[in-house]
Amino acid sequence: MNKKIELITFDLDDTLWDNMPTIRKAEIDTRKWIEDKVGRIEWGDFDDFLNLREELIKEDESIAWDISKLRKEIFRKKLIHIEPESYRNELVDKAFEIFIQKRHEVEFYDGVEESIEQLSQKYTLGILTNGNADIFKFEIGKFFDFSISSLEAKDSKPNRSHFDQALNKINSSNYSDMLHIGDHQINDVFGAFNLGIEALWFNNTNAVWSQSFKKPDEFDSWYKLPQIIKEKYE
Ligand SMILES: [Mg+2]
Repeated sequence: MNKKIELITFDLDDTLWDNMPTIRKAEIDTRKWIEDKVGRIEWGDFDDFLNLREELIKEDESIAWDISKLRKEIFRKKLIHIEPESYRNELVDKAFEIFIQKRHEVEFYDGVEESIEQLSQKYTLGILTNGNADIFKFEIGKFFDFSISSLEAKDSKPNRSHFDQALNKINSSNYSDMLHIGDHQINDVFGAFNLGIEALWFNNTNAVWSQSFKKPDEFDSWYKLPQIIKEKYE
């Protein structure tokens, strides 16, 4: 007999859309806007970013899961030479506004809208994301019952907070009522498996499974998802 599920949760970045081009463009456009205002800034490389992140987390622990605050504080550090402080803060707020708007200029993978609409007729649907995109800013948001980001979870997947909060939304304490779908082998699949939650792996890049635990069923096209779920769980 198939396992019955009630709730399906989805990761966002790299599961509903290809995130890299979006974030890269958002970053470039925002940096350009800042430099047009104040002149050239030394943005540093990825290692600099990681060091700065660590430094900021030491000053404020919440920055580990509040990635919007992280981004703002990085802008503030990079603009530290700008006076007066009120103008610097104004630039930071405006830059973040631009970034977050551009961060939502995504292109959904083919089949996402159709599959989500179809699944929403039978299941409670939710979002579990470590990022700061907001599904309710999109038309497709109407098919989702809730969204939990790291800000609400005060933690990041694969830790359990997102998953626990999701189960709470359907007033259940039974992890087997739930299926989680995402692209990340650790954050999504391991996070779910660890709690006994069913998982499907979205793998549209032909990635190799590199975990020591059993690979879940995978899919590479959103058009296939409703059928896979039907066969496994209905
Ligand atoms: Mg992802």
